[in-house]
Amino acid sequence: MDNCIFCKIVAKQIPATVLYEDDDLLAFKDINPAAPFHALIIPKKHLASLADAKAEDAVLLGKMLELAPKLAAEHGCAYVENADGSKAGGFKTVINTGPNGGQVVYHLHMHVLGGTKL
Ligand code: IMP
Repeated sequence: MDNCIFCKIVAKQIPATVLYEDDDLLAFKDINPAAPFHALIIPKKHLASLADAKAEDAVLLGKMLELAPKLAAEHGCAYVENADGSKAGGFKTVINTGPNGGQVVYHLHMHVLGGTKL
């Protein structure tokens, strides 16, 4: 998409701090972090929002969900269950959709936030 800022990041036309990349996904640091760790996971394929995803995108959405805990763990935000059953760490995932969902950038993205109690 010509005027999509995240497509431009995928195309390396504008800079980003890339944390992960494969054939389908890109993850990079949010430019205006709302937590000590704040990454965005996007599909390289342009989908304007979660509401635009089709059944054929199910594997792609699954890959985004699968990447989130790995990325969080790599940046000190792992969710752990201790031997005594106590729980620690963890992170938040958010997908904003549409104006009422607070979506500002219309290229599907999952926020991954952590590093503090949210
Ligand atoms: P939304 O409200 O869910 O659409 O969030 C869009 C997010 O994209 C915000 O957290 C912005 O800080 C982030 N953002 C916008 N432009 C850039 C950029 O060029 N690089 C990294 N993050 C960006």
